[in-house]
Amino acid sequence: MKENLDNIKKEVLNCKKCGLYKTRTYPVFGEGNIKARIMFIGEAPGFNEDKKGKPFCGQAGKVLDELLDTIKIKRNEIYITNILKCRPPNNRDPNLEEIQACTPYLERQIKIINPEIICTLGNYSTAFILEKYGLKDQIQGISKLHGKVFEIKSLFHNIKIVPLYHPAVATYNAGMKDILKKDFQILKKL
Ligand code: URA
Ligand code: SF4
Repeated sequence: MKENLDNIKKEVLNCKKCGLYKTRTYPVFGEGNIKARIMFIGEAPGFNEDKKGKPFCGQAGKVLDELLDTIKIKRNEIYITNILKCRPPNNRDPNLEEIQACTPYLERQIKIINPEIICTLGNYSTAFILEKYGLKDQIQGISKLHGKVFEIKSLFHNIKIVPLYHPAVATYNAGMKDILKKDFQILKKL
């Protein structure tokens, strides 16, 4: 059968490949436009996402919507997912085992969506995507990388990687929202 997002989603909804299946309510597969030119990759579901099975539907999602609004992009024009599909208890950081178990799903999603721009939100997705595209030596903390544009040119497909702060930082640090707004202008330009 041809690989498609529904097949992957079915696998994710039944997945027990790491220990997080024991504490999740619902896995959060991701959602959006299958033809999106831009794909956002966050970290992991939080409290609200876990309850609803939808990405970025809580506080961080509100910030994200506000940021998208500043550049007149709608949620239904983008695709959005996370490094981990299940919520880590108490929103703790993802661990290496979980990232290794879960990211094959993300890689399959990227292959299908085939975005022109991947916008990574926060340290975890940024490190993962830079490594995936052969830029391991560029990995630094997000405070150093936010707002940079990495261009990957390959025979069949060019892709731009834009690391940004995770929108959640703006929920506990108001000054961060201005930095995020400024960085979002880069996406508009691209
Ligand atoms: N934070 C994330 O990284 N992803 C979500 O879906 C929600 C909050
Ligand atoms: Fe499976 Fe990923 Fe959920 Fe772990 S986090 S159980 S690998 S879907």
